[in-house]
Amino acid sequence: MDRILIVGAGQGGFQAAASLRQEGFAGEIVLFGEEPGLPYQRPPLSKAYMADGDADRLLLKPASFYERSTITYRPEVRIGAIDRAAREVVTAAGERLGYDHLILATGARNFRPPIPGQEADGVLELRTLADAVRIRARLAETRHAIVIGGGFIGLEFAAMARAAGVGVTVLEAAPRLMGRALSPAMSEFFLAAHREMGTEVLLGAAARRIEAEGGKVSGVDTADVRVVPGDLVLIATGIRPNVELAEAAGLHVDNGIVVDESLLTSDPAISALGDAASFPLPEGGRARLESVQAAVDHARHIAKRLLRGESAPYAAVPWFWSDQGKLKLQIAGLGTAADESQDVPQPEGAKMVLLYRQGRLIAAETVNAPGQHMAARRLIGAPRSALEAAGYDLKAALRQGAA
Ligand SMILES: Cc1cc2nc3c(=O)[nH]c(=O)nc-3n(C[C@H](O)[C@H](O)[C@H](O)COP(=O)(O)OP(=O)(O)OC[C@H]3O[C@@H](n4cnc5c(N)ncnc54)[C@H](O)[C@@H]3O)c2cc1C
Repeated sequence: MDRILIVGAGQGGFQAAASLRQEGFAGEIVLFGEEPGLPYQRPPLSKAYMADGDADRLLLKPASFYERSTITYRPEVRIGAIDRAAREVVTAAGERLGYDHLILATGARNFRPPIPGQEADGVLELRTLADAVRIRARLAETRHAIVIGGGFIGLEFAAMARAAGVGVTVLEAAPRLMGRALSPAMSEFFLAAHREMGTEVLLGAAARRIEAEGGKVSGVDTADVRVVPGDLVLIATGIRPNVELAEAAGLHVDNGIVVDESLLTSDPAISALGDAASFPLPEGGRARLESVQAAVDHARHIAKRLLRGESAPYAAVPWFWSDQGKLKLQIAGLGTAADESQDVPQPEGAKMVLLYRQGRLIAAETVNAPGQHMAARRLIGAPRSALEAAGYDLKAALRQGAA
């Protein structure tokens, strides 16, 4: 194999390039990214970066890394097509480059629901560094921010804005916060926490129209006909995977680029990873995860398969975190299929909800309990009885061999 091309220079694309070299790939690696600048991490965009504005700290590696690792990084180059028959990618400018293997790491983009009035000045979204720069500049002169969408990114932003002294209203159409990913008990905990931070949280409140005065945003009209006044609107209503490139090339796409257990697409010369990929879960079913862990672990798995010929199916335990004010939420496993939820009493300031399916641990949601989270990652699949024997202290359960 002489040349591996990677489309998308985010978390997963970067990791794929780095892991290929770590695994000893001696051929050419070209990493294409449509954004300007060096590859960076997105999680701090809604966290530390909002407070300190330090873009250098976001970089995954300095420029010297790419030189030293002989990774050809090509920023501001969008790949417009894949010619699978010729095994070439075609840039938006028409340049062609051949590959022996292609890795699609195209990530996702924000979903904008069809709410009228989005063209008003002051209506923003957060996915890229450019978005974050715009938000920071605007926040300095904002009195009241309205967040449409009570998911992770909207709530992280809400907490940062409150800490900066900005008034915040969160509009969530569903009956609870972060409902797609969290147990009801944890949603409830965060609802109380955000209200305590001084954020107004309206549940079951679908945004109907963004109001403007003189072209500038002035508020949001919700379904219950209450206009919430505000001078900044953040639309944080989820993302959609960037699958168009794969789809146009005839690859199988279904809520993401469909890959098999070794993360290969329907073309054995093309792998896909991260936010853009729908992959099979060891316990059955499929997932498309929106997390650093998935992007990084996918990338490592692909590199090992390509370089060592490892054929073990991808089976990494998913984990995730979100920082909201003083609360560090961590999730190990996937809890959406739970048939039982257990709120385990924790010391002051911490929280833990364990989620089971058929008597086995499938996920653990913790707040300010990093030791329990780390143990939980190794206990996914453990029988509840083994956790009970340790008094539901996951660190103790691990010591007692419950894993
Ligand atoms: C504000 C924010 C906060 C987050 N916080 C957390 C967190 O706390 N914890 C966590 O686990 N995850 C968090 N995430 C999610 C995490 O950042 C993503 O899951 C991760 O970046 C996914 O990596 P990826 O490589 O799949 O996609 P991305 O990092 O999105 O990279 C994809 C890249 O591909 C580029 N691209 C797409 N198509 C093309 C093309 N045709 N040609 C060239 N380039 C292309 C895109 O422009 C993009 O730069 C957060 C995300 C955001 C936006």
